[in-house]
Amino acid sequence: MTEITDIIKATTQIDPVTGSLNTPIHLSSTFNQVSFDDFGEFDYARSGNPTRNAVEATMARLEHGNFGYLFSTGMAAISSVLLTFSQGDHLIVTKHVYGGTFRVFEDVLNRFGITHTFVDCTDLENITKAIQPNTKAIYIESPSNPILAVTDIAGVVAIAKDHQLVTIADNTFMSPYLQKPLDLGIDIVVHSATKWLAGHSDILAGAVVTNDQALAAQIYFVQNAVGATLGVTDSWLLQRGLKTLAIRMERHTASAQQMAAWLEQQSVVLRVNYPGLVSSPFFEIQQRQAKNGGAVLSFDVGSYENAKIVAENVQIPVFSVSLGGVESILSYPPKMSHAELDANELAATGITPGLLRLSVGLEDVDDLIADFGQAFKKIPV
Ligand SMILES: *Cc1c(COP(=O)(O)O)cnc(C)c1O
Repeated sequence: MTEITDIIKATTQIDPVTGSLNTPIHLSSTFNQVSFDDFGEFDYARSGNPTRNAVEATMARLEHGNFGYLFSTGMAAISSVLLTFSQGDHLIVTKHVYGGTFRVFEDVLNRFGITHTFVDCTDLENITKAIQPNTKAIYIESPSNPILAVTDIAGVVAIAKDHQLVTIADNTFMSPYLQKPLDLGIDIVVHSATKWLAGHSDILAGAVVTNDQALAAQIYFVQNAVGATLGVTDSWLLQRGLKTLAIRMERHTASAQQMAAWLEQQSVVLRVNYPGLVSSPFFEIQQRQAKNGGAVLSFDVGSYENAKIVAENVQIPVFSVSLGGVESILSYPPKMSHAELDANELAATGITPGLLRLSVGLEDVDDLIADFGQAFKKIPV
């Protein structure tokens, strides 16, 4: 079965009781027990709800994993995975990490004695050098936000296996349709399902998938103990979004590829970050581990002033944070996703003052190109 077909099958879980094609929305916090001695599969919805469980199974299947868990947000998913670590543990974290994840490591986990070292994972030697006696895991994101730096996932896995480290990959930018970290040997995949997975800029959601039974038990323990679970209606909406994941990603990524190629030709654009471009330093590794370059790109128009002119003059994209919707979303990382970073940290991660990030939507790409073309003309030469 091809993957496109499998996604449709995975998201069509026929209700055994009624034959309903779509998983019912089980709005029930508690479940009646018919036997005094033997309780059924469900008792209290924080521990498990049939709607959430159905979509957790879908997520596991899409990522080629055995165990899936849904959380109220991507940060809840990521934080819950990180709460499986203990005081005294050390993690190696890509320096190109999502701003919210950066904040959890720096300002939350540090307070509980879970320490970390940020390293540039695009050079694997940096990872090996950062391993300490108490290092327990490597946390990566590929491609990264917002400069689309690509990490050699299989290379990270090889280092981790040598040192018995757990590997965690944030697969938000790719979605399982474009990249499957578990197939490359990663232990735990995390997602902001708010983005491509839900796909419509409507809900916040997070997902975790693993193949490792022991890790799954720890993740489930935290999910149930801390309780940052995904609500039932939002689980259903996530399933609805997932049905069109393949077809959306095909169109989003074809348009992004065209957009990136066009941006590269524009004299006002100093640099385009998109791993689907042959000119990208990450092109080959991206080809090896993912289907294509994805549908998020960033580009540098030289200055804060120019970035402002572009953002104020485009008509089609919305100007906002987030990504992964049907509409194109233009954002300004220094003041949006990476506002947590100070000037030095921004410089260290390549987030220059003229950097704009674009999540390419499902509009006609020729309309988008024409729109950016007219906005670029407003920049004084
Ligand atoms: C948005 C995002 C997150 C956080 O997810 P939320 O759903 O906003 O909590 C984590 N990682 C990446 C790469 C993201 O883009």
